[in-house]
Amino acid sequence: MEEILKSLGITGKQSGVSTGKHWLPGGGAEITSVSPVDGKAIATIRGASREDYDAVVVTAHEAFKTWRQWPAPRRGEIVRQIGEALRKHKHDLGRLVSYEMGKSLQEGFGEVQEMIDICDFAVGLSRQLHGLTMHSERPGHRMYEQWHPLGITGIISAFNFPVAVWSWNSMLAWVCGNVCIWKPSEKTPVTALVCQRIVETVFAANEVPEGVCNLVVGGRETGEWLAADPRVPLISATGSTRMGKEVAATVGARLGKSILELGGNNAIIISEHADLDMALIGAVFGAVGTAGQRCTSTRRLIIHEKVYDAFIARLVKAYSQLRIGNPLDENNHVGPLIDKDAVNAYLKSIAQISAQGGKFLVEGGVLEGPGYETGCYVRPCIAEVQNHFAIVQHETFAPILYVMKYQTLKEGIAFQNDVPQGLSSAIMTLNLREAEEFLSAAGSDCGIANVNIGTSGAEIGGAFGGEKETGGGRESGSDAWKAYMRRQTNTINYSTKLPLAQGIKFDL
Ligand code: NAD
Repeated sequence: MEEILKSLGITGKQSGVSTGKHWLPGGGAEITSVSPVDGKAIATIRGASREDYDAVVVTAHEAFKTWRQWPAPRRGEIVRQIGEALRKHKHDLGRLVSYEMGKSLQEGFGEVQEMIDICDFAVGLSRQLHGLTMHSERPGHRMYEQWHPLGITGIISAFNFPVAVWSWNSMLAWVCGNVCIWKPSEKTPVTALVCQRIVETVFAANEVPEGVCNLVVGGRETGEWLAADPRVPLISATGSTRMGKEVAATVGARLGKSILELGGNNAIIISEHADLDMALIGAVFGAVGTAGQRCTSTRRLIIHEKVYDAFIARLVKAYSQLRIGNPLDENNHVGPLIDKDAVNAYLKSIAQISAQGGKFLVEGGVLEGPGYETGCYVRPCIAEVQNHFAIVQHETFAPILYVMKYQTLKEGIAFQNDVPQGLSSAIMTLNLREAEEFLSAAGSDCGIANVNIGTSGAEIGGAFGGEKETGGGRESGSDAWKAYMRRQTNTINYSTKLPLAQGIKFDL
């Protein structure tokens, strides 16, 4: 890892504040990033002071005046080159993501691949920022709409996808003509530093103005500055529902725009008509992948009573075969939780499950001994519960899987929907009627609803996000780009008269 850090330019103490061309000294609090894999300090980053932050905003604001006038396909060409640079760094950056965050190496590489994919998507998008044309009710008039950039996009990101979420936002924001200020998670600042450096190299080669790509490392307070700042018209915030409610209130109070990507409580319905082999893989990867630290992790299995016992037996067997350990070792299935706070939250939830009447089918616990010295490695566990238990209604960001029985599909869908969150959902069934009912208006109430794949993970081509306490935002593919732009309706009169709309007469 030391070699990789060196090759990526991470040595000693670093500033975490950049305008895309210059690194400011970083007068804020220092953050030492510690790997949950082996407990070693990766680097110490000097965060942004309020003065640093203000200097960054001023530079970004100036840069926007130039950047918004670059033709969108030219901005797309810059993003294409970022994709190329990421391809070159996929191996190193992927390893670093795995080491700093604790996800498996394959998932680390996958995260960088997702960044490359969104670059490709954004390049095409840069020629497709379409508006509609409409027929005017007045003779000699033309109406159409166009989309303009908003200005500064503030990106607040979570630890679990330390780099992909930033890329979903920034690549789209850039082709749309916005400039970005990124406040990464204080738990994963080193990967953010590396991304900033990769982009800076591309920007320098293309003479992109200083201030288009900005980084402000810091804690919650730095996120609060962004949320409260009227110079930042759009805040895209990814993280807990607690954070989202605070950001929404602050941004809403100044009538700014926000894209909120918050917690999930995702379920798979396993029908009596399911292919149980497929259901097993989907359920186990969904529940234990990234040690249950994905917003789309499978938290609940809603299993038809006819297949319940048989499926549970296979599930318990599969859990007994899980290998927990260093995520850089590709033989392991499950890596560590991000830190001791996450371990304590996991233990607290386990105690609550028992106190509320849950029955453990696979016991949890913290692993000790060689290889587990960080105290962040925990056992994925399974508990039989009722959907209405308070703890089941809550997202615990850890590998705890709840199982419950249903009799009719109506009841199964009701369980699926009966939680405060609405991110990802799935049904495993080979029955067309069941699948269509699940996808209908009376079916899943989530932003993502899948058939015969699990809840976890998504492709960048679709709009990503969820309803209810998940925040309602959409990022990535489809027409999610519209949230990064302002719509302008234009009416042009090329006649010799000035008729008023709705036939209103006004003679002088
Ligand atoms: P978190 O809410 O603790 O922190 C997320 C980010 O918000 C960090 O950068 C943090 O510094 C900042 N922040 C915290 N409070 C803030 C405030 N009041 N104002 C402004 N910024 C603030 O979340 P986390 O522990 O890093 O990530 C885990 C959570 O993120 C889970 O709930 C998970 O479901 C969610 N998540 C959601 C998605 C999604 O797309 N829906 C994706 C990834 C993670």
